[in-house]
Amino acid sequence: MPCELCEVVLADPIEETVDYLVVMCPRCEMPILIWNAHNVPMDKLDKMTISSGIERAGQQVYGSGMYDIESAPCVPGDHFHIHARPRQIALDIGNRGEMIK
Ligand SMILES: [Zn+2]
Ligand SMILES: [Zn+2]
Repeated sequence: MPCELCEVVLADPIEETVDYLVVMCPRCEMPILIWNAHNVPMDKLDKMTISSGIERAGQQVYGSGMYDIESAPCVPGDHFHIHARPRQIALDIGNRGEMIK
């Protein structure tokens, strides 16, 4: 079965590294960081790298302080992924991006 997240990876990346890729999410049109490898357990993820990657994308797309990190899964698939979303939406749902620590 094709992996939807692997197909997302074909889009124009905002940032691309050996570990992850940042693109605009095809579902919610916000920047999404997708870890390249499948099925990586949470405790094996490089949270520092993920955090700085998605922060950079948020700043680039929305501007400094204008975004929050949204860790809820969005695209079906077994890659870890995380979004930056505009701050006013994040406040509405009460999510201040406390997930990645
Ligand atoms: Zn995949
Ligand atoms: Zn999304």
